Amino acid sequence: MTHSKSCGRFAPTPSGRMHLGNILCAMLSWLSVRSRGGRYILRIEDLDAERCPRALADQIEDDLRWFGLDWDDGGSDGGDAWYQSCRSSVYETYEARLRERGLLYPCFCSRAELHAAQAPHRSDGTYVYAGTCRGLTAEQIREKSRKRGAATRLIVPDETVFFEDGCQGWYEENLARDCGDFIIRRSDGVYAYQLAVVVDDGEMGVTEVVRGQDLIGSTARQMYLYRLFGFAVPQFYHIPLLTAPDGRRLSKREKDLDLGVLRKAFGRPEPILGMLAKACGLRETARPISLPELAEGFDWSRIPKHDLALPSEILQVVNFS
Ligand code: GLU
Repeated sequence: MTHSKSCGRFAPTPSGRMHLGNILCAMLSWLSVRSRGGRYILRIEDLDAERCPRALADQIEDDLRWFGLDWDDGGSDGGDAWYQSCRSSVYETYEARLRERGLLYPCFCSRAELHAAQAPHRSDGTYVYAGTCRGLTAEQIREKSRKRGAATRLIVPDETVFFEDGCQGWYEENLARDCGDFIIRRSDGVYAYQLAVVVDDGEMGVTEVVRGQDLIGSTARQMYLYRLFGFAVPQFYHIPLLTAPDGRRLSKREKDLDLGVLRKAFGRPEPILGMLAKACGLRETARPISLPELAEGFDWSRIPKHDLALPSEILQVVNFS
C-alpha cells in the first residue's frame, strides 16, 4: 500500500477514561494533519489486553466523536486490524526479521536483578540494560529456560541517534549508553510497545507522530527500529503535558478531569476546546471555539515546550482535588 499524503494518528492505550491531556494530544495531532488536508487514523494500543478492555476503547471513540475528532481509518469500524492486541502475527514477522539478522537474544533477568544492576535512562527514568544475558551460551540458555520464560532483547549499536522534534527541538541519544539493549517482547509473550508502535506506524503509513513529551525518551530506540525495518521515519512532535495546580502531571489512574466529568460539566465541546487552545498558546483567550476554526492557520510554532498549567477556567467549573 502506498500513502502519499500526510497521515497523523491517535494511538491511545485504553486503560482508563481519557483525561484532558489525552484530548489535548488528540486535538493537536488532528489539527496538524487536518489543517493540511491529511489523513487521520485511530489505532488502539491495547497490547496489555487484560488492562485494556474493549469497552474502554469504545468509550474513547465516543469521547473523540463528541469533540468532532473524526478519523478516516481505524477504531471499531476498521475491525481487529486496528487493535494491537489482535496484531501479534504481524509483529511476529518483524521479530523474525530481526532474529534472522542475529540481533535478538533471550533475557532471563528478573525485575529485581534489573533494578540492582543498571543505570537509569537519561530522560525517562527506565533502566539502561547492562547486557547481562547478551553473552549466554546455548547451554546456559537451555539451562535457564527450564526455570523461567525469557524476554527478547534487541542488540543496539554504540551509535548516536538524533532528530529535530517539531515541538521540543533538537534531541539526541546514544543507543548503547543511554538506552541499552531493549525488550521487544516480554517474557509472557506480549510484544513491547517499542516494537508494536514502529511496526504499526510504519505499516499504516503514518508521517507524523504527536504524543506526550514523556515519550520522547522512546524515540531514539524507535528510530533504530524504523531503520532496521526500512520504514521512513515520521516527523515527531512531543507535546507539553498538562499539570495540576500542585505541579503533578495528569494521569489516567487518578481520574483527573476525565471526560466523564468534563462532558457533564460543560455540556458541549467548544468551551473545553477554547480552554485547551488558550492553555497551549493557539489562542489569546479561552473563548469557546470549534475544531474547524482552530484548524485555520494552525501553527506548531505557537505550542510551547514546557508543561502547561491547567486552564484556570477549568478549575472554576470542576471541583478538582
Ligand atoms: N499508547 C500510548 C499512550 O496512550 C501512546 C503511544 C504513542 O503515541 O506512541 O500513552
